[in-house]
Amino acid sequence: MTNLITEWVRPEIRQLNAYHVPPAHKMIKLDAMENPYRWDADLIEQWLNVLREAQLNRYPDPTANSVKGGLRRVMQIPDELDILLGNGSDEIIQLLALTVAEQNRVVLAPEPSFVMYRMIATFTNMLYVGVPLHSTDFSIDLETWLAAIAKHQPALTFIAYPNNPTGNTFSQHEIEKIIQATKGLVIIDEAYEPFSEHSLLSLVSRYPNVLLMRTLSKLGLAGLRLGMLVGSPTWLNEIDKVRLPYNINALTQLSTEFALQHYQVLKKQTEQIKLDRTQLLADLRAIKAVHAWDSQANFILFRVPNAKMVFEHLKQQGILIKCLDGGHPLLANCLRVTVGTADENQAFLTGLKLALANV
Ligand SMILES: *Cc1c(COP(=O)(O)O)cnc(C)c1O
Repeated sequence: MTNLITEWVRPEIRQLNAYHVPPAHKMIKLDAMENPYRWDADLIEQWLNVLREAQLNRYPDPTANSVKGGLRRVMQIPDELDILLGNGSDEIIQLLALTVAEQNRVVLAPEPSFVMYRMIATFTNMLYVGVPLHSTDFSIDLETWLAAIAKHQPALTFIAYPNNPTGNTFSQHEIEKIIQATKGLVIIDEAYEPFSEHSLLSLVSRYPNVLLMRTLSKLGLAGLRLGMLVGSPTWLNEIDKVRLPYNINALTQLSTEFALQHYQVLKKQTEQIKLDRTQLLADLRAIKAVHAWDSQANFILFRVPNAKMVFEHLKQQGILIKCLDGGHPLLANCLRVTVGTADENQAFLTGLKLALANV
């Protein structure tokens, strides 16, 4: 058996660990940038009435045009741009890589950033190159970027805006310099757009090598798995060829259409999360042993003297956050907490103070 594995599984896949999702049963779950709020009983009832119409014996609408129409409306996507849907934006990252992958072609991304860029480059036999961000504020080091672009001629560049796990946005001027210097595709990943003050959507119409991704996951619909790619029809027609038919299932389509008709509910929740983020940041900064960075997303990155021990102590208390220590040198002793409800944030702060006093 082992011989079969070593003979046939690609070495770079054997070396990987599958994406790890820690168990969170009965825990205060502040590790995955989920929206903490459920819908009220009345809205759930209306939603269930919609689901009753689902025809599970039939394949879903292959174009999912009603979903796209709803997204176009609430996100004000310009008419000249098309939308391509994915089973989460993770799938869209994979579709992009499949479209351009050839041996020795490079995927470029800032570091630290979203781990799927590297993983999917590996899945698709591409080379991954990370460009380190400035160590103090995680901003773009433009000179290093321009040198990396000249050297590697990346086929695909991913820029998360705001960035995960650092929570900051980058200078638009510097991003445009990167776009102008790059011959390949530059993908702006706006997964955290609902919590950010600024969008780069306008760059898609201005540059022929720019596409933009968004997702409903962080907005409050992580369970649905719906991501989107926005760009010119010329690009999206090509990428659509590697999409598996029916990738957006019937329940997701019906639920998304329903949720987008009640967009103001989600909007109100994200506004609350933004307010609570301000409070949580202030409370974290009031703790002496903590250094917390500003955030344009629904999480906060912070540094403590001993991240692994603080993380474990919190876990023992039933509070799950994300430990980033060991993931990247710039993230030494860093932890990431998702903004939860006011009560969850309080429980986390109390737990954190207890942990810091005991490790
Ligand atoms: C969460 C996240 C995604 C993936 O979102 P899904 O749509 O749930 O697959 C993409 N990019 C970034 C930067 C993220 O943090």
